[in-house]
Amino acid sequence: MTDYEIRTRLAPSPTGDPHVGTAYQALFGYVWAKKNSGSFILRIEDTDRERSTQESEKAIIDSLKWLGLEWDEGPDIGGPYGPYRQSERLEIYHEYINRLVAEGHAYPCFCSREHLAEVRKEKQKAGSGSGYDRKCRDIPPEDAAKRVEAGEEFTVRMKIPLEGKCVFEDLLRGRIEKDWASIDDQVIMKADGFPTYHLAVVVDDHLMKISHIIRGEEWINSVPKHVLLYEFFGWEPPVFCHLPLLRNKDKSKLSKRKNPVSINWYRKAGILPEALLNFTGMMGWHLSDEREKFSLQEMIDNFRLEDISLGGPVFDLDKLLWLNGRYIREDLSTDELLDRLVEWGLNRERFKKILEICKGRMSCLSDWGELTGHFFSGRISVTKDELLLKDMDEFETSEILQIILWELGKLDSFSKENIYSLFKGLSGTLDIKLKYLTQPLYIAISGKAVSTPLFDTMEILGSDISRTRIRRAMEELGDLSKKRLKLLEKKYSSLFGGS
Ligand code: GLU
Repeated sequence: MTDYEIRTRLAPSPTGDPHVGTAYQALFGYVWAKKNSGSFILRIEDTDRERSTQESEKAIIDSLKWLGLEWDEGPDIGGPYGPYRQSERLEIYHEYINRLVAEGHAYPCFCSREHLAEVRKEKQKAGSGSGYDRKCRDIPPEDAAKRVEAGEEFTVRMKIPLEGKCVFEDLLRGRIEKDWASIDDQVIMKADGFPTYHLAVVVDDHLMKISHIIRGEEWINSVPKHVLLYEFFGWEPPVFCHLPLLRNKDKSKLSKRKNPVSINWYRKAGILPEALLNFTGMMGWHLSDEREKFSLQEMIDNFRLEDISLGGPVFDLDKLLWLNGRYIREDLSTDELLDRLVEWGLNRERFKKILEICKGRMSCLSDWGELTGHFFSGRISVTKDELLLKDMDEFETSEILQIILWELGKLDSFSKENIYSLFKGLSGTLDIKLKYLTQPLYIAISGKAVSTPLFDTMEILGSDISRTRIRRAMEELGDLSKKRLKLLEKKYSSLFGGS
């Protein structure tokens, strides 16, 4: 037993759909806190003003609640170390940034974007990394202060040592060393006055008294910068525990091209939250008797951080379905299953939305089943021939579907109006008549050439299911080669300004 409170946190950035990686970090952080009668904290890291949205924050909160991982302190419920949304803590960060500058650990940088881009290019050409040339590091502090005073635009960078090694401990990996020379003078405050992740995460983890940072392996390379900040401030760093990366079945890093990654997809596809939690708990951890089906409480009772194994855990959908089936068959009575179905999609509210768009096509009540099957099924079967766009082969069709996916990914709200104007715009830019452009979409989304109105249907199904169905249609058409995809990305950025 420790003599201090165990406090873990989940610190998602509200940019996009709630990711299964977020559920994974949340589960392990939650379980470790509960095992030790500690606290689990939710902190929203929304310092990237361009990419953070309220919808995304809401979706993350909803999905964590659906999973049953409730926090003891957070933006919605407050707590003793709030606020728990970084955009509301700017004054706190400024105080610490000023302290670093005053103590000579950080400096204002006045370099223009153009200069930075040029340096990056030159360094890349010379094969000496891609970093910053530290041009502003040696400006005398009085001169820098005058320029700041005069209103010149600036960022703040931390002074990384020019030589030596950073050494730190990861609970699962032991001692890790990294040469300081390989690390750039990290920006800690952007020109808009917002801190970067690195500064904010350290300040918050310290002020919120986090004892264990449990997060994905992808953050390990950031630790040296964080450790240095702890040193500058004279603070004790928390324990670092980086969970192994989740992987696709082919062992590559979990990616939406190969696997659904949004928690919402699993929810809408009919996975039970307890099965998803159980499955996520199997990522790098198991019960000593190797039993695969276990409850959250059983995980809490038996969990030890040091038992997590680093061999890349595979997020295998077939396995999840197998487990989900066991929960349905073994744990739910028929009445309970009925309740779950109603909650999932067989409720009056959803039926009504669907009825609204089916009514015009019904001549008797029993048409309902045939007309609406695609709203209730997981997998839609499609064939290559049906999917082809007029006068195009499978690769050309697949490229158009990829562009559609990229564009759909940019929508803030997945409403039929937005989807319609997106397709209208695409039809103009790509010079393909709207009626031809939507043809393969009818097949991908509903499995039929003639079906419920496309944009309404996509709105009701939601972004996750719609996009996964389009991706599945692309799989049917055959994977685009890497080369082809690269060319397409170029064409796409010139036509639409990037994904
Ligand atoms: N905001 C980071 C993210 O989006 C948090 C990383 C961390 O846990 O330190 O995942």
